[in-house]
Amino acid sequence: MNKVLTIFGTIALDTTRTPFHTVERTLGGTATFSSISASKYVATSIVGIVGFDFPPSYLEILKSFLDVRGLIISEKEKTFHYDSSFGYDLSKRTTNKTELNVIANYQLTVPDEFIDSEYVYLANNDPVQNMNVLNLFSKPKIVICDTMDFWIINKRDEVIKMVNKVDGIILNESEAKLLFKEDNIFKCARLLNSNGPAFVVINKGENGSLLFYDNEFFPMPAYPIEILKDPTGAGDSFGGAFMGYLSQQGKIGLKTLKNAMVHGNVMGSFAIEDYGINKLVNINSDDIKKRREKYVDICSF
Ligand code: AMP
Repeated sequence: MNKVLTIFGTIALDTTRTPFHTVERTLGGTATFSSISASKYVATSIVGIVGFDFPPSYLEILKSFLDVRGLIISEKEKTFHYDSSFGYDLSKRTTNKTELNVIANYQLTVPDEFIDSEYVYLANNDPVQNMNVLNLFSKPKIVICDTMDFWIINKRDEVIKMVNKVDGIILNESEAKLLFKEDNIFKCARLLNSNGPAFVVINKGENGSLLFYDNEFFPMPAYPIEILKDPTGAGDSFGGAFMGYLSQQGKIGLKTLKNAMVHGNVMGSFAIEDYGINKLVNINSDDIKKRREKYVDICSF
């Protein structure tokens, strides 16, 4: 089966502090959120590395949704740890600590079974490692990437090189602006597009998201969430669902991309309703279907 989606990114222990609650060393990471989200649409395999301190119960969670043959457990290093805080409005995140640990220095391999994957999602991670991993696939049909401030600040040139190699990019508004030192997101979308990818998605949190494809802009609202607990992983869950849907459809086109945006918004909205991955692991296809219908209804007039 080569119509599989392979996702590469971080598998993390997240400490997330909000004024209402703190979760310590909970299962997180960009590959974790995006691949669990994508697994609701298509068979998904995860490629990444964790350390000796990675709890076996977290491994069991990953195994219950994903093909984990591409997951390496280091005996020497600790798992990537991300510590962040949110203020009362839960919209702005402050990074307290990024402990790269095991992801700082390693050479990942992709198992033989996945190298002919047609769909590859390079979730937010070191752009150099993302490109190294991408080179291991034989001939992927659709490749998408994400990035964040940490890598834009530390490895901007490599981020641009990675953007050049993909069919699509999904990133946050603040990251797009930081990448080009440009304040207008429409200009950012054009600049990203001129660097290679056929389509660009810029996420604006509770203000929705913007798709740029074939010289057209498509803004979409966010699904209104009344009980927001933890915004961590919203972007990754959006990206995973977006890529999962594209992989299911097997092509890029305006209609497909718009529908992928709908699924991205739906899964992103679920992710933030509980801490870490709690909500994503507890929803079923009926919950997704109902929210999608409601979302389509909200967007129509
Ligand atoms: P987001 O969807 O942007 O909220 O992504 C949240 C996830 O990103 C968390 O689960 C973190 O473990 C992960 N993360 C934070 N910093 C980095 C980084 N520099 N590189 C890769 N992943 C990261």
